[in-house]
Amino acid sequence: MQNILNDIILSNKKCTANGKVASYIPELKNANSDDLGICVIDKDNNIYCAGDYNKKFTIQSISKPIILAMALMDNEWKHVFSKVGMEPSGDPFNSIMKLETNDTKKPCNPMINAGAIVTTSLIKGKNLQEKEERMLSFFRKLAKNDSLEINKSVYESEKLTGDRNRAMGYLLKNDGFIEGDVEETLDLYFKQCSIEIDVVDLARIGLLFSNYGIDIETGERVISESISRMVKTFMVTCGMYDASGEFALKVGIPAKSGVGGGIMASVPRKMGIGVFGPALDKKGNSIGGLNVLEDLSNKLELNIF
Ligand code: GLN
Repeated sequence: MQNILNDIILSNKKCTANGKVASYIPELKNANSDDLGICVIDKDNNIYCAGDYNKKFTIQSISKPIILAMALMDNEWKHVFSKVGMEPSGDPFNSIMKLETNDTKKPCNPMINAGAIVTTSLIKGKNLQEKEERMLSFFRKLAKNDSLEINKSVYESEKLTGDRNRAMGYLLKNDGFIEGDVEETLDLYFKQCSIEIDVVDLARIGLLFSNYGIDIETGERVISESISRMVKTFMVTCGMYDASGEFALKVGIPAKSGVGGGIMASVPRKMGIGVFGPALDKKGNSIGGLNVLEDLSNKLELNIF
């Protein structure tokens, strides 16, 4: 396994030159565009790392499946899906269009910004501080890493420049999909996107979902089987935004990307994978990460279809 990972990172390093680091959140511009790293944790808890695996980056949209799991644990699933849909949007992750043109005006799914702003609003807590504490401790529990923190400068950068998300938040509030205070929901959304992680954290979270919510080391059930299944299904249908179809065809593994350059992948009953490469393609997915996962899937025959 170690040699396979070393080879895959080496052979894909050059394709990072075809992508660009995200710059619409100013703080993300500081990333090193040719970084590429991977971590795999298998079901026997063997950990393999290669490339730039020790770099830290913000989780960004990979927070979306985690927040979905939390929203489904905090609420009846019917309530959650009365506020957010189950269908791929076919539009970019930050698109606002279908909030107007859809019959229901409901965000298409929880893996795009509009849908994730809704699932964030469903997180329980008596005030913002309690919601934030619950959210951060849930991420720490899933990653089995108590040192996870919010990157303050990325959070401030997002909050300052997140007017598109703000516009969606107010539209969603107007149409009855957000209960409570919009600014509070957005604040929690910006915070969850700004949690700093590395590929080992992502592989650990991916492994938990791959094992249907049971911690392989302790046997503890952290997330129910049905919620784990729902989350992985959304990762297949919507996890790579409007590139999810192509990714399902070429790679065939439930996965979720973020504009920080991370991708979390979860191979049912086999392994969790974390990849990092901040150079992104036009759709906002890590260009090196996509290629690394395609090669790994082919080499180890991980395609679930
Ligand atoms: N925080 C980012 C945003 O809201 C997350 C987007 C992403 O990773 N695709 O724009």
